[in-house]
Amino acid sequence: MIVVIKSDASPEKREQLIKWLKTLGLGVHESDGEFQTVLGLIGDTSKVDMDLIESLDIVDSVKRVSETFKCVNRKFHPKDTVVSVGDVKIGGGNFALIAGPCSVESERQIIEIAKAVKASGANLLRGGAFKPRTSPYDFQGLKGEGLELLKAARQETGLPIVTEIMNLKDLPLFEDIDVLQVGARNMQNFDLLKELGTLKKPILLKRGLANTLKELLMSAEYIMASGNEQVILCERGIRTYSDYLRNTLDLAAVPMLHELSHLPVIVDPSHATGIARMVPPMALAAAACGADGLIIEVHNDPSHALCDGAQSLTPAVFDGLAKKVESVRRVAA
Ligand code: PEP
Ligand code: MN
Repeated sequence: MIVVIKSDASPEKREQLIKWLKTLGLGVHESDGEFQTVLGLIGDTSKVDMDLIESLDIVDSVKRVSETFKCVNRKFHPKDTVVSVGDVKIGGGNFALIAGPCSVESERQIIEIAKAVKASGANLLRGGAFKPRTSPYDFQGLKGEGLELLKAARQETGLPIVTEIMNLKDLPLFEDIDVLQVGARNMQNFDLLKELGTLKKPILLKRGLANTLKELLMSAEYIMASGNEQVILCERGIRTYSDYLRNTLDLAAVPMLHELSHLPVIVDPSHATGIARMVPPMALAAAACGADGLIIEVHNDPSHALCDGAQSLTPAVFDGLAKKVESVRRVAA
């Protein structure tokens, strides 16, 4: 249920109302907009007397929210959420260009790539240290050592780092990581989501391989319901009948998620297509449909990459793409 408070309501009366709603056992999520305040009520609202609340002189209107996702719902929070990572802002008109290798392989590799993508305009560095691989015989990532190398690259370039956490037991190692990524295969690892919800760190939540938008939003709800409001949604392609591409990039998800939720939505054209030459056109399409950012795999030697070389851009191709992304964003704005 949401309660819209009139713009001229006195702060005392508003506080009184919030206090009273809390005595009914409800959680109250406040969202201040330019012209109105929205109170989102969380919990069992079935016994709440809507007419009584609506009759209060500070209340403009009361509406039931039928969706099961509350905290992530735009009805609860009409303004775009802007996630901050150091000086970098994501959402509400701020664009994140996240780039880097699929996996951290060596100090030289990650630092060289970090410098190159920064020079091209990337504002965040990606790189996997813990890798969820389909085969147990494939490179599983440098793990703790990979995290240290990412920190070294951050030190060298100033770029905040984004990396995937696969297992809760590794959480202590991620204390000094800027953005924690929940990979597609872990989108419904609810214990992981709940724990990440207790952190004060941005979480990049990727859509599962075969998950609906509602399921993605419910997973974001797990993080937010535990108290962490800094969630970035990521469309990375889903399984369909695609034969020549790794996945199908569901770009209509971007405007739909923006309609349903206030959270920033970014796009990963690398895992969505699996083919380097498909990445630029899909990245531009994502920028055109209003994505709040892109996460793109870039490698200095794609043919020798330990993971996902086929979909990795060279720094030179990434540089050209970054310029075009800026042009498309200007036109689409
Ligand atoms: C990744 O970003 O490295 C990754 C494994 O992506 P996804 O979880 O989307 O497959
Ligand atoms: Mn990858």
